[in-house]
Amino acid sequence: MTDMNRKSGSNILELRDIDVIYGKSVAIHDVSLKVPEGEIVTLIGSNGAGKSTTLNTIAGIVKPSRGSVVYKGEDITKLPTDKRVQMGLCLVPEGRHLFPFLTVLENLQLGATQRKDSAGIKSDFDFVYDLFPKLKDRRSQKAGTLSGGEQQMVAIARGLMSDPKLLCLDEPSLGIAPIVIEEMGVAIKEINKSKGTSILLVEQNVHLAFSTASYCYALQVGELMAEGDIESIKNSDVVKKAYFGGDKEA
Ligand code: ATP
Repeated sequence: MTDMNRKSGSNILELRDIDVIYGKSVAIHDVSLKVPEGEIVTLIGSNGAGKSTTLNTIAGIVKPSRGSVVYKGEDITKLPTDKRVQMGLCLVPEGRHLFPFLTVLENLQLGATQRKDSAGIKSDFDFVYDLFPKLKDRRSQKAGTLSGGEQQMVAIARGLMSDPKLLCLDEPSLGIAPIVIEEMGVAIKEINKSKGTSILLVEQNVHLAFSTASYCYALQVGELMAEGDIESIKNSDVVKKAYFGGDKEA
């Protein structure tokens, strides 16, 4: 499947021709991508490729110097981050950004501060505790005392407590043991399946990215170098060369 024949009407998110410049250096140039409603899409790239810049642009933390961010058919390029969260667009940032001296429960409650539907909040607590049973056991523990994997679970669960329609995950595998990365992949697919949440997964770990998503964009030094469904990306010569140094299987 190429970008041309992905239906534009059913996209929850579209980035159109985005440039982001920090001072005098161009971080990303001419980045366009789409997340169809209900799909898991991944954005891969090595260190400094511009993945976080792309997600921060979607979340409204970074302002693009060119291009537009379209969410549910509406141009939100100039909308502040809190308004985007209210519209169901949620970023789980790289490095988790938890409140280490607050408990797991308190961190999760903070995710729901913009909501008033108490029944929905309760059912989302049930959902995240089913998804990550360890968090239920440790709900009274200070978040800063958890392992890296458990902290990443709290970060994702806190994002879910805002009832997102589009969940953007920035490198959830970072600093996490391989077995926990696998659990993370299972959880990401479960969120998508059970709640129908659209997901944009930014990853350097191509194994997690390829086992989770249905469509992939690959960034290299601030520009998209390839896109396609997972099988075609795995077999793409440019991606093989960039990630695996030649013709090796992805
Ligand atoms: P990583 O995987 O290491 O997090 P990334 O793909 O997410 O990398 P970005 O963090 O988006 O990449 O960085 C893209 C480029 O922009 C890099 O060259 C980086 O040094 C630069 N950059 C990022 N944030 C800033 C900033 N606040 N000010 C100046 N330059 C920045």
